[in-house]
Amino acid sequence: MDCLFCKIAQGEIPSTKIYEDERFFAFKDIAPQAPVHFLVIPKQHIESLDKVTEEDVKLLGDAMLFIARLARKQGLDKTGYRVVNNMGDDGGQTVKHLHFHILGGRSLQWPPG
Ligand code: 5GP
Ligand code: ZN
Repeated sequence: MDCLFCKIAQGEIPSTKIYEDERFFAFKDIAPQAPVHFLVIPKQHIESLDKVTEEDVKLLGDAMLFIARLARKQGLDKTGYRVVNNMGDDGGQTVKHLHFHILGGRSLQWPPG
């Protein structure tokens, strides 16, 4: 499948990997918006949050645990961080493979632009 993040997860396109297990891959965003900015993706290709089904409920729950553990490893639990999923055009989704942004290392503004 011609998908950038599938290729990154499979190591076909290089990235700065943070961690991976059987189901998830974490890597640094190429254009960081905060001192810490990494992405977590399921290795399984899911186009967006809109395409998630009941069968994916455990995967998504485990993704949140995976994210919290990685954030804690980097000490972000002490200062806080933000987890973002962009869906579709208005959400600002540019890569059509479900991913979560983890941003931290500075105070983030709310609401987003
Ligand atoms: P979206 O806008 O779809 O929510 O987020 C896509 C993110 O992927 C963007 O923050 C963008 O900087 C990042 N990105 C796009 N292409 C690459 C790439 O080739 N490598 C890495 N590491 N990040 C990428
Ligand atoms: Zn994909």
